[in-house]
Amino acid sequence: METSEKPAVRCSKCDREMDHYNTFLSPTNEESVVCWQCLAREEKGFNAKRDFHRTARTGVIGR
Ligand SMILES: [Zn+2]
Repeated sequence: METSEKPAVRCSKCDREMDHYNTFLSPTNEESVVCWQCLAREEKGFNAKRDFHRTARTGVIGR
């Protein structure tokens, strides 16, 4: 059964049709669609280290 009313949209990064995605508006007013898989991948590549530290830090501070 269909629960989602959103149509699948082609991700502008991996070029696959996904129904879980975010839409970003570029400064030139263009919409770009990035699926959650690409988002997750980018986030990991981007701040894997930083995120690691942050999580560890907040655990230590906890104030
Ligand atoms: Zn993608």
